[in-house]
Amino acid sequence: MSKSLVISDLTIRIGGQEVVSQITLELESGRRLGIIGESGSGKSLTVRSILGDIPRYATTEGKVVVQDRSVLELQNSDLLSLRRNTLSLVPQTPSATLDPSMKIGRQIALASDAALTKVVASDGVAKILRLVGFEGNELEIMNRYPHQLSGGQQQRVAVALALWSNPRVLIADEPTSSLDSILARDIVEAIKRYSDSSGASVVLVTHNLHEVIRLCSEVAILYRGHLVEHGITETVFREPMHPYSATLLQAYGYLNGKYISRIGGATVTPNDSLPTPTPKALCPYLNDCPIAKKLCSTTPPPRVTKPGQAACHFALEVRRLSKN
Ligand code: SF4
Repeated sequence: MSKSLVISDLTIRIGGQEVVSQITLELESGRRLGIIGESGSGKSLTVRSILGDIPRYATTEGKVVVQDRSVLELQNSDLLSLRRNTLSLVPQTPSATLDPSMKIGRQIALASDAALTKVVASDGVAKILRLVGFEGNELEIMNRYPHQLSGGQQQRVAVALALWSNPRVLIADEPTSSLDSILARDIVEAIKRYSDSSGASVVLVTHNLHEVIRLCSEVAILYRGHLVEHGITETVFREPMHPYSATLLQAYGYLNGKYISRIGGATVTPNDSLPTPTPKALCPYLNDCPIAKKLCSTTPPPRVTKPGQAACHFALEVRRLSKN
């Protein structure tokens, strides 16, 4: 199966500090990936790199390839064309994309590169509005201005705007963070319907783990700019292989906490004087890890380069313990 997205050894530095460290992630066409992790873990910067939208003051290394195009090397005009025709973003808040001075129908129709007749554009806009849940009132919505819609309706329109160009890769950056749970479910369902019907890939950044289960075939877990685990969603949620993943899932009630049982061998105690801060090459979770061993303070953990891996010396033991 072809890859719609390849991120290889992506490192992003801001002010000399590494905020994304050697992330490698691949996504096959039609697959849906959820990226989770606490605030400041590098999720948003990672997805911004897919859009070629890295802040000017940041420096990058590595590659981001979307549908065979190397995003970080594209000129502005090629990048804009890629964003209009291949990639789309569903933003966190609709105000980021909606023009307050233009009626909804017109602004969706104008978002296309193609020269469309009024009738074709109008039919297309009505269809895309129905796809995002405006069944029966799509014509009324087309004739309204953004301020005449509720917050939930505005976000559905933002999804419609993102889908209008028929993107092959859809990026959704916390698209439901300002919505109640019913509206949030509608937005996730609309994205899923689009992906199922078009075969488009989706990258979802979220704090809502239910959304990952509902929408994503794969999940990537980030911790302080490092990819610590990548795998099939169901498998990672049932039997995570990294202690941070297990702690995160346990905090949200997905695990019963048994994983913290002792793994054979001496754990590091405060008397072992762990280096602070953790040297760059060592495990980023070393100072917080409940099962760290001496090996962890001398040897870097393995890197995650494909699904089914975790950046931990004791990944198999963690998986075994989290299953129990
Ligand atoms: S490599 Fe060591 S410190 Fe890092 S997560 Fe695994 S057990 Fe913990």
